[in-house]
Amino acid sequence: MSDPIDRSGVAPRFWEDKRLEDMSPAEWEALCDGCGKCCLNKLEDEDTGEVALTRVACRLFDDSTCRCARYATRHAYVPECIVLSPSTIADHAYWLPATCAYRLLWEGRRLEPWHPLISGTAESVHRAGVSMRRATVSEAAIDDEDWEDHIIEEPV
Ligand code: SF4
Ligand code: SF4
Repeated sequence: MSDPIDRSGVAPRFWEDKRLEDMSPAEWEALCDGCGKCCLNKLEDEDTGEVALTRVACRLFDDSTCRCARYATRHAYVPECIVLSPSTIADHAYWLPATCAYRLLWEGRRLEPWHPLISGTAESVHRAGVSMRRATVSEAAIDDEDWEDHIIEEPV
């Protein structure tokens, strides 16, 4: 399957010596590993602040490609879909999956060897078992009160 994320034209290992806020839009986009976990519904414990991801995915998530089915126009369908950027990462890092490249770099950590920018292929994310390809159920099929039956362990 071709990789819809354009990683061409970015300098090798650019993320190792560039701050997130100094990255170009192309570099920022290239950081996404395509795991699909930010399209999962999460449960937050109001008392402890603990966050659990569920395998209940946004209705626009395409489980077979592990991608948003309407990325460019998604806000017309899902207005609450977040826009991750250098200025919003601080607000979202706490709930992003432990393997998310943006979270890892924001926390001062390294990208994993299976990241497509290192492996050279988007398939490595799926092979490493950290993506949600063919592993979700649609929120259209699951009542909100049943989400807790679908909590996933991280990383999956
Ligand atoms: S969780 Fe992070 S790396 Fe995974 S798809 Fe979302 S933004 Fe990309
Ligand atoms: S609208 Fe698209 S990008 Fe946003 S959460 Fe849903 S599937 Fe993911």
